Amino acid sequence: MQTYRVLLLAGDGIGPEIMAEAKKILDWMNAQGIARFETEEGLVGGAAYDAHGVAISEEDMDKALAADAVLFGAVGGPKWDDVPYDVRPEAGLLRLRKDLGLFANLRPAICYPALADASSLKRELVEGLDILIVRELTGGVYFGQPKEIVTLESGEKRAVDSQLYFEHEVERIARVAFDLARTRRNLVHSSDKKNVMKTGVLWDEVVRRVHAADYADVELQHILADNCAMQLVRQPKQFDVIVTDNLFGDILSDVAAMLTGSLGMLPSASLGAPDEATGKRKALYEPVHGSAPDIAGQGKANPIAMIASLAMMLRYSFDMGDWAEKVEQAIAEALAEGVATADIAREGSRIISTAEMGDLILNKLQALAG
Ligand code: NAD
Repeated sequence: MQTYRVLLLAGDGIGPEIMAEAKKILDWMNAQGIARFETEEGLVGGAAYDAHGVAISEEDMDKALAADAVLFGAVGGPKWDDVPYDVRPEAGLLRLRKDLGLFANLRPAICYPALADASSLKRELVEGLDILIVRELTGGVYFGQPKEIVTLESGEKRAVDSQLYFEHEVERIARVAFDLARTRRNLVHSSDKKNVMKTGVLWDEVVRRVHAADYADVELQHILADNCAMQLVRQPKQFDVIVTDNLFGDILSDVAAMLTGSLGMLPSASLGAPDEATGKRKALYEPVHGSAPDIAGQGKANPIAMIASLAMMLRYSFDMGDWAEKVEQAIAEALAEGVATADIAREGSRIISTAEMGDLILNKLQALAG
């Protein structure tokens, strides 16, 4: 059996609490001989700053580069609000994304039946929702140069951000989206603003070219980003995979996320390019939420986003899609029991702790495993 090296970076705030629940599942899978995970731990964010004066040490960066996958909790908190900018907690995550070359951000929005009433949309619009937003993560307007505020001779200030895309950047993210669509409902919506932006024109041209050359079996639809935002709240179930740039992806994935109810439920994956020799991609899996300092250390954190991130790791890094589905099913069954952490509680829910939720999901998984 192959050994998979997983680096656990729990981070700050609720990070260690939710990571402990994910680790229970990895430990159980090891004990059962389902897989062989070799886990290592490291420090990131404020925890790394306290220990080493940096947001992530070189030693932990080396571990991340050597790992088959990184499981990441969350970073930040008021304790580190005044640390120097280049060693602020978020710098650890940005360094990981950059050095691992994680250009594809996958944000699923899945609505569990037990939580359909927690959405701001009507139950019938979101029940059974399962969409995946594929966001380009390392290019576009967040990184393009020039990016500056200059004071003109008149004394007035002018700010500029530059939206840039190269063909190869669009091509590789399009391939990720088409490949993923083939494992789902085989439909990709490519979203840009080609009506007003040159980067949108190039984006659309490259996506169509890649589609025609290698993915003609996948259905491709074009949708303008503003219309996509509207359609996400009008009729979200029309979508399967949405592929879009860094800026629009940032916004559209947050819109899609909120369809499902709570921040504590949302996993994500960030993937790099496949290694030429092994075909394996560098990858980092993390909940979408932050370190929730307001509830840290109180056993109130919802561990589901973290556990669902682990499920994504099984699916995308270790080709264990069947086990990923079992973990997701275990989450759905746990929620169907009418229990909840405080963030997802509804009238009549029995509120349970982080560890109780983790244990219940593990129990359900054990039952599903037979
Ligand atoms: P947050 O996501 O940490 O919290 C927002 C609200 O949602 C809080 O009320 C929190 O209690 C609740 N919440 C979040 N996750 C939850 C969970 N799993 N279970 C139950 N409730 C949950 O965002 P914030 O308060 O804006 O930021 C707090 C810190 O986290 C800041 O330092 C911020 O910079 C950092 N942050 C880190 C990441 C990351 O590590 N990727 C992402 C966002 C924010």
